[in-house]
Formats: sequence, structure tokens, C-alpha cells
Amino acid sequence: MIEQTVIVGGGTAGWMAAAAIARGLGRHQRVTLIESDRIGTVGVGEATVPSIRDFNRYLGLDEDQFVSATGGTFKLGIEFQGWNGPGSRYFHPFGFLGPDTSGVDFHHLWLRHVADGGSRDLVAISPEASAARDNRFGRTTPHGALQYAFHIDAARYAALLREQAEANGVVRIEGEVIGVERDPATGDVAAVVLADSRRISADLFVDCSGFRAVLVGEALGSGYVDWSRWLPCDRAVAVPSTRLDTMPPFTRAEVRETGWQWRIPLQHRTGNGYVFASGFEREDDAVRALSARLDTDAIAEPRLLRFTAGHRRAPWSHNCVSLGLAAGFLEPLESTSIHLIQTAIIRLLALFPHRSIDTRLVERFNRDTIAEYEAVRDFVIAHYRTSDGMDTAFWAAVRDQSPPDSLLARLEAFTATGTILYERGDLFGPTNWLAVLTGQGLWPLDHHPIAAAMPQDAVALRLKQLRDRAAAMAASLPSHASFLMDRGVRS
Ligand code: FAD
Repeated sequence: MIEQTVIVGGGTAGWMAAAAIARGLGRHQRVTLIESDRIGTVGVGEATVPSIRDFNRYLGLDEDQFVSATGGTFKLGIEFQGWNGPGSRYFHPFGFLGPDTSGVDFHHLWLRHVADGGSRDLVAISPEASAARDNRFGRTTPHGALQYAFHIDAARYAALLREQAEANGVVRIEGEVIGVERDPATGDVAAVVLADSRRISADLFVDCSGFRAVLVGEALGSGYVDWSRWLPCDRAVAVPSTRLDTMPPFTRAEVRETGWQWRIPLQHRTGNGYVFASGFEREDDAVRALSARLDTDAIAEPRLLRFTAGHRRAPWSHNCVSLGLAAGFLEPLESTSIHLIQTAIIRLLALFPHRSIDTRLVERFNRDTIAEYEAVRDFVIAHYRTSDGMDTAFWAAVRDQSPPDSLLARLEAFTATGTILYERGDLFGPTNWLAVLTGQGLWPLDHHPIAAAMPQDAVALRLKQLRDRAAAMAASLPSHASFLMDRGVRS
């Protein structure tokens, strides 16, 4: 029977896993989490996507309490600056642009409208983008609800989850794993050995040890699929600065010479970081470049992080499931890491072993996890591939590389037909791809024949209705800062 689970690592991934397993399996599973104060956590990871609300609901977290405890702000999307040439900007909003009532994805109507000479302003038909442009926020309006996520202090989120996990019976051990014992017959992990010689055994291990991947990587030798030929950025420098009084309800991602820079507004500070490629820029130059380009005053020393884009060949290997940075990493351009942790946890719960570990369930976990990483990878690469933002050696190199076949097919299909190819369950669907591809200046040559067959007046009227609705929704909302204040969640 699988009755004991040991989680190694107490970062966002470890505590998300502990809270969810304790919630799902209750006292039927004895859960122990080992974390090392000496090693610490990666300490960044501040922007999220709307699915985190489902995870919090699953855990029974009250949303206002969550926002307050994490120093959080609300997020309606990402503003991309400079990706389509100097001075350019576009918004990638959460939510959907319009209902697919004509039997085709809605964006074909918009493309038809643009082909008729209509407005290309996507912000005007997106309630989320319209509200973000005016720094407004609300969960609902008389005309409908908004799709939103959060900016959070990930360390505070981990602390909140820890409280809940411990209340549900999770036992925390402070200690450093320095050895792993394997069953000589099966190769499974039998126990981990701590620096103080304690030996902790379990039936199932969850490796949340960050980039070190002490179990799945170091002990079990599950190799790493390296995607740096497509995503050459391998460093980030992060520095917090004082808070932004305007409280923009969106993340900003700005093109830089050898990568891009993020700005994430929290209640008590602003998260900033520069993701860059060490093959094109020296680390100390990147640190200086970021420090010179902050909107508010730095409040701590810059931190340098090193990574390689990619994932574990077998995220679940033997009796060890890896989550978070131990499983893989994609740069935070679309804020997807916490989402990937969450979906892997839900998948683990769905396939959780009962009497023994069934290899068919392991294979399914690995197949679906890798497919999800690949889908996000393609979306992230698409930003680089289609950007005309800067004329540097780095940007020339990323634009020239040949993309994965799956992405090439999507880009070619979109350019030729306006159709966005996606799979059921993809995190990024037509609205997302449309916003980013057209925002970067990639316009398709055609649109769907059903949209082409609609009367021009009817298409124009639908678009006008959507513009009016988005404007009315945005106008009915308070400022983001006062929304936070009114709920008493602003510190
Ligand atoms: P970590 O935070 O590294 O935690 C690892 C844990 O393992 C720690 O508790 C450590 O003490 C423990 N540990 C390690 N070795 C041992 C050992 N031998 N014995 C005992 N314990 C051990 N994600 C987003 O969703 N949005 C973002 O905006 C975002 N931005 C990011 C920006 C950058 C530059 C980077 C690098 C990541 C970003 N991420 C983001 C990803 C996010 O930070 C991580 O996915 C998330 O923090 C989870 O990290 P983790 O828990 O896997 O690892």
C-alpha cells in the first residue's frame, strides 16, 4: 500500500504539493515535507495565470485572505513593450474576446472586420485589456465577470500553504538531504538520509528540491531534455524595488538587448527581473543594465539565477514524482511555472497510486506532463520568433533558429488561413495566440470562410457591441488601488 509520502523541498512546489495531497487524501496518507533552511528557495515566482484560482478554491482558501497574506495584487494580463519595434506595445489579456456563436473561433470575425478596414485595436474589445489600460479592477460588473489572476509574493504563498498543510497533518522536517538509499531489487527510492544522519523512508517521494533535483536527477538519473537551442536565455537577475503607487493590474514584459525585463507590482514592493542569455551578455553587465532601468528604488541587492530551459525526460521515475523546478523550467515570459506545478499536482492526485505503483499510470503522467510543457514552450518561443523588437546579435540569432515542427505548423497555418491550431485543454487558446501574434505584427493572409460569408454590417455590429460592452465594463470599475483598499487587503 502507498501510505507514506515524503516531499523533498519547501518552495512553492513543495508546499503546494503538501497542501493538495493533504487535502485530497487526508489522514489516509502520511505526508512529511523536508526542507533545508540553509539551501533556501529560489525566491522569485510572482506572476500567475487565472487557473491558480481553481487551485485555491480546491484548497478552500478565501481569496481576499490569500491576496492579503501574499501582498498580492490582481492581474488582468501582460503588457508587452517594444516587441514589435521601439515604442510599440500590445496587451495579452486574460479572458475571451467574444462568444463563438457562428461556428468558428471568434477571432475570425475580428480578422474579417480588420480585412474590411475595421479597427485593429484588440484592447477595445477585451474587457480585461480595457480595464487594465485604465488601471481599473473588479471581479464582476453589471455586464459580466472579468478573468483575472494575481501577482503574489511566492514565499508568502508558500507560508500560507504551509499553515494549511500542517493543520491537515503534514509533518515538516528541517534538514538537508545528503544521501538517497535505493531498493537493490527495484531501484526505487527506499529512504533519504539527512545531514544529521536521520533516515526517512516512504512509499512515494515527491522531488520539489528545485534546480538541484536531488532525487529524480541526482539519484535516479532521469536525464534533462535541453531546449536552450530554442530558448537561449539561461540567466535572470532579479531585484525588488519600492512599490508602484499606480498599482497597475498587469505584468509588464519589455524587450531588452539580450532578452526581456519583467515588472510585477505587489502591494509592498515591485518585482523586477532581466532574463538574458549569458552567451550574449556578461552577468555583471546584465546586473548593471537592470539596476539602471528600474521605475522605483531598489530595496535589496540583485540576485542572479542560472537555468536551462527544458524538462526531465521522465518527470515521474520509479517511485519519485518531480514537480516545479526539479521537473523543468521555462522562462517566466507567460508566468507559467506555478500553473505547471498546479496541473502536475492535479494530475498526480488523479493518478495517485493506491496499492502499488502502476507503470501505466506513470507513463500517462509523463506523457501529459511533457505535452503540457511542449505546448507552453511553443507559445514562449513564438514571442521570440515573431519579434521585431531589437536589432542585436541575440535577436538575430533567436529569429533565425528553426522552431520546433509543432510551432512551425501553427505559425504557417495562422499566416495562411488565420486558424489557430490548439488542443483541448491547452493553457493558451485562440485569444492568447491572436493577441500575441498580431501584437508582434504577424497578420494572417486570410480568415475562415464562415466569417467571410457573414454580411459586413452584421460583423461590424458584433464588433461594435463588444467594444461598447468592454468600455462599459471598464468604466463601471473602481481603480485597482481602491479595490484593494476597499476590501481591506491592501497593506
Ligand atoms: P525552490 O523554490 O528552489 O525550492 C526548492 C526547495 O528544496 C527549497 O525549500 C530548498 O531548501 C529545498 N532543497 C533543495 N535541496 C535540498 C536538499 N538537499 N535537502 C533538503 N531540501 C532541499 N513562476 C511563476 O509562476 N511566475 C513567475 O513570474 C515566475 N518567475 C520566475 C522568475 C525566475 C527568474 C525563475 C528562475 C523562476 C520563476 N518562476 C516563476 C518559477 C518559480 O520561481 C518556481 O516555479 C517556483 O518558485 C517553484 O520553485 P520550487 O519550489 O520548484 O523550487
